[in-house]
Amino acid sequence: MAATFARTFRARPYLTSAAFAGVVGAAYYTTTQRPVLLDSAHNATQTFSFPKTMLFSQQLTVTGVEQVNHDTKRITFSLPGGKEETTGVPASAAILTQHTPSNAWFPVLRPYTPIHDRSEPGILQLLVKKYPLGVASSYMHSLTPGSQLTVRGPIPGYVWQPSPTPRSVLFVAGGAGITPIYSLAREALKDEQDRTRIHLLWGVNGERDIVLREELAALQAKYPERFDVRYFVSSSDEGGKDAGSLATTPAKGEQSREKGYIDAGALRRAMEACESGGGSLGDAKGTKVFFCGPPGMQEKIVGKKGILSELGVGKKEVYAW
Ligand SMILES: Cc1cc2nc3c(=O)[nH]c(=O)nc-3n(C[C@H](O)[C@H](O)[C@H](O)COP(=O)(O)OP(=O)(O)OC[C@H]3O[C@@H](n4cnc5c(N)ncnc54)[C@H](O)[C@@H]3O)c2cc1C
Repeated sequence: MAATFARTFRARPYLTSAAFAGVVGAAYYTTTQRPVLLDSAHNATQTFSFPKTMLFSQQLTVTGVEQVNHDTKRITFSLPGGKEETTGVPASAAILTQHTPSNAWFPVLRPYTPIHDRSEPGILQLLVKKYPLGVASSYMHSLTPGSQLTVRGPIPGYVWQPSPTPRSVLFVAGGAGITPIYSLAREALKDEQDRTRIHLLWGVNGERDIVLREELAALQAKYPERFDVRYFVSSSDEGGKDAGSLATTPAKGEQSREKGYIDAGALRRAMEACESGGGSLGDAKGTKVFFCGPPGMQEKIVGKKGILSELGVGKKEVYAW
């Protein structure tokens, strides 16, 4: 077999050249940055979707940075195709940001969930919480208007199917885990044919950690029959002087807060509220609870011996990001 190949390449040098050119071309194609293949606003099928921007990194330009609380920034990017493009990133899916720290060999990649309205052309917006020693979040917080960010993705989120009949689901978020939960809730609520009721429990350390306050209050006001938000504030310590003027104030129509963690009692009451709302509990795939939060909270609530398991909610009935 090898001899046959050798003979062929000796006899037909152009074949060898073509093969070599092919390999070089393929290498060039897979390592070079390409123009962003985002959705055209008029053709919602060609976008960011895998594997396009997973293989080929893309550059987005920062157009706005807003400090929304003591540790979180809302960063807005423009898309290269301007108003002719939407990101095409599905609801609750994340993009991967990429940067190489100055003293590192390898790039740092982290997922972040876009929070802008998916139908809005020309932009991508992230809400980024900064961790004191966080490599990516610190880098993201250093971006200013005009900066460029390399992105890939998206990595899939939950594929939501609307329900024509009444049903309820429970969403549980912890801290910065609100972003995919918010993205999915907004998408589901926007669909007027969808009769799903969403009960959201959101746990934060302090009052000042609440973000997307106006947006959640607006959803609650617009869809009072389908959306209910309860905040759980575990600590009354607002971080002293740091809280300052960036400590947010309740939005109009916002539910009052409960003190403490999202515990077994809170989850039981929420499950009962879901069950008594009329219709079924859970979606067509049988998912009853959607969770996104920090590792400790995840273990406590959706872990093997977590609260949901004690309440009889099976592993397959929970989706966690
Ligand atoms: C699917 C998905 C979507 C996400 N979407 C968002 C988003 O929209 N906005 C956002 O701000 N983040 C989001 N994250 C988290 C984000 O990807 C990073 O993990 C986070 O920004 C920390 O990265 P870092 O490099 O700054 O921290 P690292 O350098 O990885 O960690 C440094 C230290 O920070 C602390 N830390 C890191 N992550 C956490 C955490 N989750 N909880 C508590 N402490 C932590 C730890 O003490 C850790 O030792 C998402 C994560 C996933 C999996």
